[in-house]
Amino acid sequence: MRKEKRNYRIGVIAGDGIGPEIIAQAVRVLDRTAEKFGFALDYVPMDLGGCSIDRYGIPLTEETVTLAKSCDAVLMGSIGGDPKTSPWYQLEPSRRPEAGLLGIRKALGLFANLRFSNLYEDLKDACPLREDIAAEGIDFVILRELTGGLYFGEKKTEMVNGEERATDVLAYSESEIRRIAVKAFDSAMLRRKKLTLVDKANVLESSRLWRKVVSSMAEDYPEVEVDYMYVDNAAMQLVRRPSQFDVILTENMFGDILSDEASMVVGSIGMQPSASLAEGSFGLYEPSHGSAPDIAGQDRANPLATILSAACMLRYSLGEEEAAGAIESAVMSVLKQYRTPDLKSEGDGTLAVGTAGMGEKVVQAI
Ligand code: NAD
Repeated sequence: MRKEKRNYRIGVIAGDGIGPEIIAQAVRVLDRTAEKFGFALDYVPMDLGGCSIDRYGIPLTEETVTLAKSCDAVLMGSIGGDPKTSPWYQLEPSRRPEAGLLGIRKALGLFANLRFSNLYEDLKDACPLREDIAAEGIDFVILRELTGGLYFGEKKTEMVNGEERATDVLAYSESEIRRIAVKAFDSAMLRRKKLTLVDKANVLESSRLWRKVVSSMAEDYPEVEVDYMYVDNAAMQLVRRPSQFDVILTENMFGDILSDEASMVVGSIGMQPSASLAEGSFGLYEPSHGSAPDIAGQDRANPLATILSAACMLRYSLGEEEAAGAIESAVMSVLKQYRTPDLKSEGDGTLAVGTAGMGEKVVQAI
């Protein structure tokens, strides 16, 4: 679905640590893609996290929220410093870099988190699973509900019969489930048209509501094959036969756990893009990894997760599917010959490149 408008306003949060280095490469790649596919991008730089603390004393300003809301999408590097050495972590928790991230997610209404797990043909060695399992291919996305469920339900600790008793409430409303399920069905339509709802409907009332809502919506997406899986089985199937998954939809806590498992399945942290989506087409796109302060400023960071996040932004927020696919193909072809230090192993027959070199190779391949 191509929109009329072909001039997009992109918020750019370079952030801290390796953030500025990896964002610079993603922007180069976006510029080349825009030139090739005939659209225009206006970049709106904004501060978040540590760099915002240094400048304004707080990790998220009203100005950043207002600017982000004026954009079609936001692309982010990563934020935060080394908690052991950075002065940002001497501040009270609500003034630390991570509070800025939670704050912007809330302010922008980002309720769906997408983490993509794709095992690239040329990186199969990085996969910790058995060779025959990896050989079947791994390419799935987990949609995790971000703003409801156990983490946000009522909590209390009380004394009952002379001992402490703690309660966390797991609640979901039909509308909360429906709005993320729409994103999941739409994602499936852009992919291999298979959707797996992961829940615990044999014991949880909230999971039964998830099933009811999702199965009623399935009628509106006749092309999408929908199946249902208990979370304990899903955790096993992710390592037993990950090739069976395309889109996994799940509630907040199950998604929290499964998405970390999923990042291990594809091996390299420098390769995993992510997206957090709001109502409509707006989203915030960022690599799954952090700001890697240990390698910041050394031209060693792998910029590919950020470049692939930019591709997701083109696909999910801007409807520029062809351009998104071109970036992904370029990354795949570059990996055949070039590797950043995190991907490189002795005698793999590839050439070593740094952060900027990898960006340059992707630009050339588009
Ligand atoms: P991290 O992901 O930054 O780093 C973990 C390890 O992976 C490090 O050895 C690092 O060098 C390496 N690594 C990460 N990204 C890489 C890349 N692109 N290329 C090559 N190697 C890479 O996690 P951490 O060390 O636990 O956290 C560092 C900081 O990042 C903390 O302040 C943390 O709060 C923050 N963080 C931010 C986000 C975010 O911005 N969304 C997410 C996670 C962590």
